[in-house]
Amino acid sequence: MNKIVYFDNNATTMVSPEVKEAMEPFFTELYGNPSSMHQFGGQVKKHLEQARARVASMLGCESEEIIFTSCGTESDSTAVYSALRAFPDKKHIITTSVEHPAIYNLCKYLETQGYRVTYLKVDQEGMIDLEELKNSITPDTAIVSIMWANNETGVIFPVEQAAEICREKGVLFHTDAVQAVGKIPINLSRTKIDMLSLSGHKLHAPKGIGVLYVRKGIKFVPYLMGGHQEKNRRAGTENVPYIIGLGKAAELAVANLEKENTYVAKLRDKLEKGLVERVPNVRVNGARSPRLPNTLSISFEFVEGESILLLLSDYGICASTGSACSSGSLEPSHVLLAMNLPFTFAHGTVRFSLSIYNTEEEVDYVLEVVPQVIKKLREISPFA
Ligand code: PLP
Repeated sequence: MNKIVYFDNNATTMVSPEVKEAMEPFFTELYGNPSSMHQFGGQVKKHLEQARARVASMLGCESEEIIFTSCGTESDSTAVYSALRAFPDKKHIITTSVEHPAIYNLCKYLETQGYRVTYLKVDQEGMIDLEELKNSITPDTAIVSIMWANNETGVIFPVEQAAEICREKGVLFHTDAVQAVGKIPINLSRTKIDMLSLSGHKLHAPKGIGVLYVRKGIKFVPYLMGGHQEKNRRAGTENVPYIIGLGKAAELAVANLEKENTYVAKLRDKLEKGLVERVPNVRVNGARSPRLPNTLSISFEFVEGESILLLLSDYGICASTGSACSSGSLEPSHVLLAMNLPFTFAHGTVRFSLSIYNTEEEVDYVLEVVPQVIKKLREISPFA
């Protein structure tokens, strides 16, 4: 196997060495239960609260507005179910047609349970229309959930304006910010966002730790019921080492935000420009919309995204496709379909997502390999 070039950071990220180091004592030395009465547990509680304060500081909110969960998916489900249970007479949900399955499939399920869901459309650049949002809100709307940034294209939605619209109409607003946190500036104190989900493993903390921000004063109904942890808002003994890791990752994310938007953005732009110059018949998805600095979704006409990934993998290059394999047929992702991407492009979509740990040499290597791979695949494609 060649050296690994990891350009799949929207799928998951490496745990930072500093994060790993911060977590270590909490497995074998400081292993007390933060809810215990003794000082041994109390000591752990102090560290846990420090981690909470670090996450709150990254988001520009108060510590008590942070609830630790097990992942982004749990945070998303908790937010939506909370709104539905807090307002049991309201049976309408608004979301977008390009959400991550954590929200999208939940909404599909809720449709089978008597709820009506409006999926806001996106244009060819992957952007929503706030007028459609305004016109979709009714007195029956329990919650609006719009992702901050799309995991496939990196397109950034105007969630702050969307939250203003919802506040004016008296509707709760949740955002799935799993891909946005650590990549773009976020200051919740200046927004009308009521709930926000994030996931540790997208910002160099481990898999299996998430956060739900819940604005002080809003109606909230817990998802997991049981013990009194998290001020009765999320039962279950806290995953202390991972929470400590997330606290450290939050601190690093704040320190590295500028690098994300200069260094990483420059690498992504070089990759994008290089591929567009070297490979004919390509299309950059969401190129005319505001985008995350690290994400490139690019479609190569007349080739299969999966075949590209398999060949790239032989060269040690890790990326992702915009397609999902469903029931034996290779369907393009619902995100690309919602953007009305022509069929011949949608199938050949690859997502490269970078991080601060990537280098210019890696970009040069990918720029050398990808054109060869596409040429080879097009030579055997029955469509090209
Ligand atoms: N939301 C978005 C936008 C994501 O990209 C992901 C993960 O890919 C999730 C939610 C789910 O997060 P987790 O893997 O922590 O459940």
